[in-house]
Amino acid sequence: MNIILSHDIDHLSRREHWGDAFLLKHIVRDILEFISGKINRQDFHARVADFTGGKWCNALAIADFERSQGLSSTFFLAVNKGYGLSYSAENAIPIIDELRLKGFEIGLHSQGISEEELRVEASRFSHLLGFFPEGVRAHYLRKAADHLVIKERVGFRFDTTEYDIAQSKQFGAITEIPISIMDSDLFYAGSRLQQRSLNESKSESERILDKAEETGIPFFVINFHDRYFCEAYRDFRDWYVWYINLLVQRNFHFASFTDAIEILSRRSE
Ligand SMILES: [Zn+2]
Repeated sequence: MNIILSHDIDHLSRREHWGDAFLLKHIVRDILEFISGKINRQDFHARVADFTGGKWCNALAIADFERSQGLSSTFFLAVNKGYGLSYSAENAIPIIDELRLKGFEIGLHSQGISEEELRVEASRFSHLLGFFPEGVRAHYLRKAADHLVIKERVGFRFDTTEYDIAQSKQFGAITEIPISIMDSDLFYAGSRLQQRSLNESKSESERILDKAEETGIPFFVINFHDRYFCEAYRDFRDWYVWYINLLVQRNFHFASFTDAIEILSRRSE
């Protein structure tokens, strides 16, 4: 089983959220997590510092961590706002340039569902970054029932929006490589507040890994949001560092989505 690391860029800074409901939701959630004992005083202070500090993108910190382990990953960049995502892609260009310089791959974090919407986003992405996005993952994993038909027509080579311990599938010229584990789901477990502690999340993520190995899937895709790679989300960050170390110790092979397409096409020959 190959491990694929991926990250959705949902926020750049607090500033982009002025005037939307996200800031209020953020404050309410932090306070509720603190008073219900989900996070301790140290974490709450770190959340306040992070909130007032206002820099919410930790993509380069993750990239440095992964590089220190000899690893690489794919970052998904949004070019349209919506559903709590409020940044302008233009403002992410210096970060994206640096990630590309370090050898990281960039895909589209899509908002649209229809073919027309996705075409507009892919074209905006190409215009901004100078290349067509090979891969796509939808923000909040929103998709049409026939999303692969649509995405193949738009011209993507892979999609990673489905979320299941399942085999990758080929649909014409597009390959679907599903997400196997996602940070928010692991810690929030379907709630608005953190449900699992760091230790509980570690156990759960080991269980998911074992299940994936038993199922015999070729690619185990981790979706970790760069927003959480900081002191304010210590449990999330520490879990990611721990999980990567565990995967390295267990001698898993790491691959990119592009490698995955290559591996699958060789297998089907
Ligand atoms: Zn997202």
